[in-house]
Amino acid sequence: MRLVSYMTQTGPTVGGLRDDGCVNLSAVDPRVPGDMRTLLTMGAAGLDLAREALQTGEPEPLDESTILPIVPNPEKILCIGLNYADHAAETGKPLPDVPVVFNKAPTALSAHGRKIVLPRVSQEVDAEAELTVVIGTAGRYIAEEDALSHVAGYTCGNDVSARDWQIRRAGGQWFLGKSFDTFAPVGPYLVTADEIPDPSGLRVRSIINGQTMQDSTTDQFIFTVARLIAEISQVCTLTPGDLILTGTPPGVGMARKPPVFLQPGDVVEIDIEKVGTLRNEVAAEL
Ligand code: ZN
Repeated sequence: MRLVSYMTQTGPTVGGLRDDGCVNLSAVDPRVPGDMRTLLTMGAAGLDLAREALQTGEPEPLDESTILPIVPNPEKILCIGLNYADHAAETGKPLPDVPVVFNKAPTALSAHGRKIVLPRVSQEVDAEAELTVVIGTAGRYIAEEDALSHVAGYTCGNDVSARDWQIRRAGGQWFLGKSFDTFAPVGPYLVTADEIPDPSGLRVRSIINGQTMQDSTTDQFIFTVARLIAEISQVCTLTPGDLILTGTPPGVGMARKPPVFLQPGDVVEIDIEKVGTLRNEVAAEL
């Protein structure tokens, strides 16, 4: 099932996508919450109600400009530093033994179709294509073998990064370099985990102005989705709606010779097999 958060005349809601359009699920069945995080908190019971409403409801065309961040209010946006073996080879760094985890400010969250705004204080903004995990079931000390049962589904993420801040400013400010407003577009929709029981082998690409920049697969993961969930949940309780951006393949603008950074008017697409295409245009800060 594909679920989308979007704005209607009466406020935000959750839609279910069909080939013939989008069904406003809580308009069909008021027991389905209009907030993705609340829906995910209901677990399998909530998704069953959503599935029923999706089948019986009347679809309407979805206006892409109304799409909201897939989870508009996540508790956490977590990211993985280096997770593709082919990207590690590109950077010349040895393979890490444990994942490097950092976070992005919730205010960076953005959606399909919204502008990535280049801050006036950075000249080196880059895009990173990332398979994004949406947590469904809360847990702490989640065992690796149980970890995928905690996943609600998957979406596309762009870990937009100001390299001048991330790398050079005062010894490396990852949080600041990756937390500018609009630097965390996710979406356009959530593909529920029953459609992707195994997130390995998915092709992950970034495409800028029609030109492919990154092109790899999740078979290159150094740490699987299950391992990442096990590692992170040793530290913090994962809760429904938490987003985990799972790292990026080789080919980022920074690694090119000469480097290529985002410019106003660029169109960035993050395309992930079975998950969808997240599209954002780049704009200068006014
Ligand atoms: Zn990243």
